[in-house]
Amino acid sequence: MARIETPKRIRGTQDIFGEEQRRFAHVLGAFERVRALYCFQRVDLPVFEATGVFARSMGETSDVVSKEMYTFEDRGGDSLTLRPEFTAGIARAYITEGWQQYVPLKLATAGPVFRYERPQKGRFRQFHQIDAEIIGAPEPAADVELLVLADQLLHELGIAEGVTLQLNTLGDAETRDAWRTALVAHFEAHRGELSEDSLARLDKNPMRILDSKDPRDRPIADSAPDIDAYLTQEAAAFFKAVTDGLDAAGVRWTRNSRLVRGLDYYRHTAFEFVTDRLGAQGTVLAGGRYDGLIGSLGGPETAGVGWAAGVERLAMLIEEPVAERVQVAVVAEDPAQELKAIAILSALRRDGISAELFASGSPKKRYDRALKLQPAATVSLGVRDGAAVTSLRTLRGDAIDEVRLREVVGQ
Ligand code: ATP
Ligand code: MG
Repeated sequence: MARIETPKRIRGTQDIFGEEQRRFAHVLGAFERVRALYCFQRVDLPVFEATGVFARSMGETSDVVSKEMYTFEDRGGDSLTLRPEFTAGIARAYITEGWQQYVPLKLATAGPVFRYERPQKGRFRQFHQIDAEIIGAPEPAADVELLVLADQLLHELGIAEGVTLQLNTLGDAETRDAWRTALVAHFEAHRGELSEDSLARLDKNPMRILDSKDPRDRPIADSAPDIDAYLTQEAAAFFKAVTDGLDAAGVRWTRNSRLVRGLDYYRHTAFEFVTDRLGAQGTVLAGGRYDGLIGSLGGPETAGVGWAAGVERLAMLIEEPVAERVQVAVVAEDPAQELKAIAILSALRRDGISAELFASGSPKKRYDRALKLQPAATVSLGVRDGAAVTSLRTLRGDAIDEVRLREVVGQ
């Protein structure tokens, strides 16, 4: 007889369950709370887009576009890509849905994203991001608001202490052109010592060499000219307004003049929240300003700034959340009273009291099994001296309103 092959979970995907699920939900819950405090509207977008949405906006030479995208042809022959990030899809929606009428638009979203990467701790092929964006606000105050939001989220998650905000400016177009020329001259002078990857970047996107993790590139990247000498007055003033805003809001930050981010669309502010508690996968939240993005997708020139954070990485950093415990265990110790137990169970749940029924297995063991869940109270339906009795017992008085419970149970 042919053996049936058991199915396998696809490499780099996860089945999020138990403690992991609780951590995950805790991160999403905190994001949802903070997003509402900052008046960001929730938006949900498609998981796939036309490939060009990502390829054109993120840049053909970026790691994501050149080697990490899940791209496929659908049955109609169109090239589609599973979203590797949210920003490009939000920009597409802004253009196709006519969201210009709502600017400035503060948006928050969350969900799975897909990248073909080598799976390891904190790195998956299907992972999850939370994401916040402000579209149509060219002022530095928008960058500040997003960073303060991120900082508050990390505080609410109890992980702000171990995480540092690294901040940089990439200047405006004029700044970047001048800086780029200086960088190319510097890297050209060290051509022979650069890694193959960085040699390829030298022609297409020399700034990215600054970001290289290859030890051959590090000394050359570290000695490269800083952007500061090339900042136009306007770009310098913009960066100062961002840092002044952060100081005013009491958000701590450090300057990292090597921080460039891997995507083509960033302008002015670029930032990462980094920790050393996750090994090589130390960036938990990252983003920047992308004023050129919507225009490059064929939309009207529109300012934008935003960030995304990996839910899994945040979930690994937080303290284990306490597991939800049931408030009331309804125990049908007497099998003849199972219908009455169902009636009580339904009444409790309709009243907003969490409840679980114990009406299977041996009658003797039902109560013991209920206690294992550590309920706040038990309602047991048994027989004493030949008569049916419903008895209530409170085990954790702080977790249940006993008066209300008696009312609902009819005791
Ligand atoms: P990295 O340098 O770790 O590859 P990145 O610069 O590619 O990160 P972004 O594109 O900025 O990451 O995505 C934002 C956040 O999403 C990251 O800071 C990280 O927390 C998370 N992230 C990115 N890639 C992965 C992945 N493959 N698995 C899990 N989380 C990820
Ligand atoms: Mg990456």
